[in-house]
Amino acid sequence: PLTTADLIEEHRICVCVRKRPLNKKELTMKDLDVITIPSKDVVMVHEPKQKVDLTRYLENQTFRFDYAFDDSTTNEMVYRFTARPLVETIFERGMATCFAYGQTGSGKTHTMGGDFSGKNQDCSKGVYALLGMYFSLERQVTCNQCVFDLLNRKAKLRVLEDGKQQVQVVGLQEKEVKCTEDVLKLIEVGNSCRTSGQTSANAHSSRSHAVFQIILRRKGKMHGKFSLIDLAGNERGADTSSADRQTRLEGAEINKSLLALKECIRALGRNKPHTPFRASKLTQVLRDSFIGENSRTCMIATISPGMTSCENTLNTLRYANRVK
Ligand code: ADP
Ligand code: MG
Repeated sequence: PLTTADLIEEHRICVCVRKRPLNKKELTMKDLDVITIPSKDVVMVHEPKQKVDLTRYLENQTFRFDYAFDDSTTNEMVYRFTARPLVETIFERGMATCFAYGQTGSGKTHTMGGDFSGKNQDCSKGVYALLGMYFSLERQVTCNQCVFDLLNRKAKLRVLEDGKQQVQVVGLQEKEVKCTEDVLKLIEVGNSCRTSGQTSANAHSSRSHAVFQIILRRKGKMHGKFSLIDLAGNERGADTSSADRQTRLEGAEINKSLLALKECIRALGRNKPHTPFRASKLTQVLRDSFIGENSRTCMIATISPGMTSCENTLNTLRYANRVK
């Protein structure tokens, strides 16, 4: 089990993996759990394979990360090892960023947003709320909650870059928060905005990135910024062959932005002078999180345990592996 002593402060980039439990559907269809977390930083995938002579064997693949959270880990615990250690950064004029990356249904929103259905109440507050609660004690904090629609279908936000390479997001709302309730309310409004008008809530949220930012101001000036991002689902397979043009374009934009994100984080980790943030709208919006001396990033890669998700899980693990 993880202890507070395990927290390492020095890393600029922290990459962790979180496995969720098998859900009802997977249990009903007798899906196999193919993921084990043998120690606090190792993830193993046991992929059942068949030989030509039809004998079965397991192909085991091992990945190592900063932390690996098994399916019994709570949101609170994940928060303590991911976003919480980055808090100091924004008091030191820095930029902190925390991403949830993974396949649709693997637990990104559960980790970041938590459950707002009211069914689970306090036990499942996510990283947004836990961090928001922390900061609502601090005065002069404002929050941005934006869901930016890929390709601006809803034309909510426009991303502009001026001559000085400053990125502006037009249409972004910034709200001052005074207490925990303000933060929770804001997150709830953002969440419902993300899923409104869609037949399937997940269908829309899996195709957009949601960015929640907490800005610390001192004497009216921005002092530091904490960005929390619930990324679009990383599974794309069917998109490229879809008959619907919009679906194909969205799929392409998602691919592009996730690739650009990986490159930007890698550049940050290697202290490269050039950060390829222009390659997508997502990385443009997050530009100032990737540059500067005092920028720190954490990625939480969420994975489904089932054999039926194996291919997506391996893709997620490989991506997470490459980020650092
Ligand atoms: P995503 O945002 O990646 O599409 P969700 O966060 O919506 O996935 O998770 C899908 C479902 O699985 C939700 O019903 C959620 O409550 C549940 N779930 C996800 N992660 C966990 C977890 N670690 N423990 C328990 N339930 C989880
Ligand atoms: Mg989601």
